[in-house]
Amino acid sequence: MHDPHCIFCKIIAGQIPSNKVYEDDELYAFHDINPIAPVHFLIIPKQHIDSLAHATADDEALLGKLLGLAPRLAAEQGLKNGFKTAINTGRGGGQEVFHLHIHVFGHPG
Ligand code: 5GP
Ligand code: ZN
Repeated sequence: MHDPHCIFCKIIAGQIPSNKVYEDDELYAFHDINPIAPVHFLIIPKQHIDSLAHATADDEALLGKLLGLAPRLAAEQGLKNGFKTAINTGRGGGQEVFHLHIHVFGHPG
């Protein structure tokens, strides 16, 4: 579950500091260290899953919760008029951190 070499697992464990947006039993959200928009945060499962391509049928409820949390946190972060989401998957998809995450970003307004 916890991968000792994964930076996002270390963030969840508090071994690397992060600017936390949200946390519950299954999910963790924090601001991206290198934002591409005025508001840019990531939502990740606490369970280590390498990428969306590595999620299984057993993860469907978790994926649903992750996706469902995005609009709620986006509104809380001031993205009242909408927001963008991205899930980069695999090297060819631009994924750099191999712990599943959804980017949520946009301009407050
Ligand atoms: P990917 O390209 O894998 O979809 O995106 C990884 C994201 O994680 C990048 O936007 C990058 O800025 C962010 N990131 C990488 N390392 C850290 C870190 O240690 N802390 C935070 N808050 N974000 C990170
Ligand atoms: Zn991890």
